[in-house]
Amino acid sequence: METGLETAGSAGVSPAHDAGGTPALPGKTPLLEADNIRRHFRVRRSGWFGASATLKAVDGVSFQVAPGRTLSLVGESGCGKSTTARLALGLLPLSGGAVRFAGEPVGATYDAAWRLQRQRLQLVFQDTMGALDRRIAVGRQIIEPLEIHGIGSPAEQRAQGMALLDAVGLKPHVFDRYPHELSGGQRQRVVLARALILKPQLIACDEPIAALDVSIQAQVINLLIDLQERFNVAYLFISHDLKVVRQISHAVAVMYLGRIVEHGTPDRLFRQPEHPYTRALVSAIPVASPARARQRLLLSGDPPNPVDVPTGCAFHTRCPVAMPACRTQTPELRALPDGHRVACHLAHGDAGLPATEAA
Ligand code: SF4
Repeated sequence: METGLETAGSAGVSPAHDAGGTPALPGKTPLLEADNIRRHFRVRRSGWFGASATLKAVDGVSFQVAPGRTLSLVGESGCGKSTTARLALGLLPLSGGAVRFAGEPVGATYDAAWRLQRQRLQLVFQDTMGALDRRIAVGRQIIEPLEIHGIGSPAEQRAQGMALLDAVGLKPHVFDRYPHELSGGQRQRVVLARALILKPQLIACDEPIAALDVSIQAQVINLLIDLQERFNVAYLFISHDLKVVRQISHAVAVMYLGRIVEHGTPDRLFRQPEHPYTRALVSAIPVASPARARQRLLLSGDPPNPVDVPTGCAFHTRCPVAMPACRTQTPELRALPDGHRVACHLAHGDAGLPATEAA
């Protein structure tokens, strides 16, 4: 339950950002670039002595994030969103492809250069109790990165910690509180303050609001938008909540079984989804007005086992409009005339796909 410690404003979510961001902004140097990145694991099919197989958690993903912009990764659980974010931050070794941050290669090298780069690339999780040490006052935890890197005197560190507490909408006395004395929303604000203390250029937010009450979710989303405008920080935002994704994103990538199947601005993607999988996800977004309610599109079955990814289009086992060719021919992620990108043989930019099964 929230206490009166927070000063953040209304529970309503701010209007959407300007949707001018594109996956690759013309004339802008991308801050973060992932080029055909892959993460494959060798696994046993059954027990210790079963035949080995390759699990392709991420399989040829490319994207760019511009400074001060938000790219969201969406898709069902297990589609590879979180693994993609960890690869992009150099927290997991790549099986292939390359990541560059501000023009420099990113890799899980764990050396001095990696630690320096990590100051500018931060990660925020949904589990705030797991992210914070319950034995240490939150103020100390916020300024701990400054102590570790020897930045500033103790007085300067405390002043910076206090300034960030204020920036995330918490009162000064929270500095001396312990994590268990705070609500979930307040702890997420503390985690954000700690992520910001080293002035990062990009924060990967992995389901940052999933564990919060609905009313608090809106406050934290408003805070993330406000912090982006104040500090020009970019976000790689992971969420299964498409309503929130639409509000916070400048670009959205939809993932299915380790690959991006659709990629574009939120306005284009939510207004006219092209891929049958995206159409089903978008149709499931709740709308307040019954007059604007969409016909819910249902997908049959669960996603296939990632160890046995179907041939051709990986989605063909669940796609209501699959053709025989979809079983053998893998659709590439290709750009439509308006720059929107889709991996589907039937996508031509008019969303004129045959109707899918309606609930
Ligand atoms: Fe469906 Fe075929 Fe398009 Fe895949 S390529 S999404 S199976 S129509």
